[in-house]
Amino acid sequence: MSRKVVIIGSGPAGHTAAIYASRACLEPLMLEGFMAGGVAAGGQLTTTTEVENFPGFPKGVDGIELMMNMREQSINNGTEILTETVGEIDLSSRPFKLKAYQNDQFMGDYEAETIIIATGATAKRLGLPGEETYWSKGMSACAVCDGGLPIYRDKPLVVIGGGDSACEEANYLTKFASHVHMLVRRDEFRASKTMANRTLKNEKITVHWNTEGVEVKGDGNLVSTVVVKNNKTDEITEIPAGGLFYAIGHKPNVDFLNGQVELDENGYIVTKPGTPETSIEGVFACGDVQDHKWRQAITAAGSGCMAALSAEHFLADQEG
Ligand code: FAD
Ligand code: NDP
Repeated sequence: MSRKVVIIGSGPAGHTAAIYASRACLEPLMLEGFMAGGVAAGGQLTTTTEVENFPGFPKGVDGIELMMNMREQSINNGTEILTETVGEIDLSSRPFKLKAYQNDQFMGDYEAETIIIATGATAKRLGLPGEETYWSKGMSACAVCDGGLPIYRDKPLVVIGGGDSACEEANYLTKFASHVHMLVRRDEFRASKTMANRTLKNEKITVHWNTEGVEVKGDGNLVSTVVVKNNKTDEITEIPAGGLFYAIGHKPNVDFLNGQVELDENGYIVTKPGTPETSIEGVFACGDVQDHKWRQAITAAGSGCMAALSAEHFLADQEG
C-alpha cells in the first residue's frame, strides 16, 4: 500500500512534520532511523544535556526528554513510527519506493506519494585522544548550543577550525570565555574576509596558525588542557582550557539518496528559496539536511511544519 506521506528522520524537523501531517489526516509513516547518522532516533538533541533556547521551557529542558515528548506527540496525533533506517530510495517513478534496514538487516519495502526528508546533519569530529571521555563534559561541536553552560564560563576555551562556523563560534564564545584560542591547520582562514577580519580584530581571540589538536586532557570529569602541535615545526605545546569546540564542518545525511536529489557544493539538499521543495516534485526537505547556516532545533522544527503543509498542498493539487 502506498502511503500519502513518508517522513525520513526523527529530529525536531521530522517530528514537527509528523505532527502537522497527522493532524491533516495524512496518516504519515515515520522511519525514525536505527542509529542513523551516528545518532539514535530523536536526532542530535539526544546527544546533549540541557536545551535552554527552545521556546516553552523557561527553565530549559533535557534534550532526550524534549525529543521523547515530540515523539509521543507525533504518535498521539496518529503517526506510525518504525525504528528503521532508509538505505535505498527510488525517486524515478511514482509512487516513490524505499527500502529500510536495522544495521544490515532488511526490514521492509515502502511506497510513498510524497516524501519528507528530515535526516539532519552530523557534526564532524576529529577523534582526538580524550574525546570519548570528555564529550559533553567540556567538548562540543556546537558553541551556540553549549557555550553558555556554566562549565565554560570565565575559562579559556579552544576552537578548532578556520571556516565561517569556527570564526562565528569563536566570536560568540568570547561573551562567556576569559579568552578563546583558535587552532587553524593552515596559515589562512577558509572563512569570508568579513568574518576573518572580525575575528582577527577581537582582542579576546588568539589565532594559532598551522596548528592542530593532538589530545584533550582533564581530571576525568572536565577538560583542563588541550595539547596542540605546530604542523610546520612539530613543536608540541599545552593550552590550559576549560573546553574544546570542534567547528570543522558538518556532513548532511544524504548518502541514501544516491544523487537523485539536487545537492549544493557542500552536500546539502537544495530547496527552492523560502520553500521545502526539492528538485523532485513531491519530495520535500526540512531541518539541518537542507540548512548549513542556522542549524537550530527551532529552525528545524519550523521548516518541518512547512514541509508537512507543502506535502498536504501537493497531495490536494494531485487529487484536483
Ligand atoms: P537531526 O536532529 O539531526 O535528526 C535527524 C534524524 O534523522 C535522526 O533521528 C537520525 O537518526 C535520522 N536519520 C538520518 N539518516 C536517516 C536515514 N537514512 N533513515 C532514517 N532516519 C535517518 N539546537 C538548539 O536549538 N538548541 C540547542 O541547545 C542545541 N544543542 C545541540 C547540542 C548538540 C551536542 C548538537 C550536536 C546539536 C545541538 N543543537 C541545538 C542543534 C540541533 O540539535 C539541530 O539543529 C537539530 O537537531 C536539527 O534537527 P533535524 O530534525 O534537522 O535533524
Ligand atoms: P567549512 O568547510 O567552510 O570550514 C571547515 C574548517 O574546518 C576549515 O577551516 C577546515 O580547514 C577546517 N577543518 C576541516 N577538517 C579539519 C581537520 N580534520 N582538522 C582541522 N581543521 C579542519 O565549514 P563551516 O562549517 O565553517 O561552513 C560551512 C558552510 O556554511 C560554508 O559555506 C560557510 O560559508 C557557511 N557558513 C556561513 C556562515 C555565515 O555566513 N555567517 C556561518 C557559518 C557557516 P581547511 O580550510 O584547511 O580545509
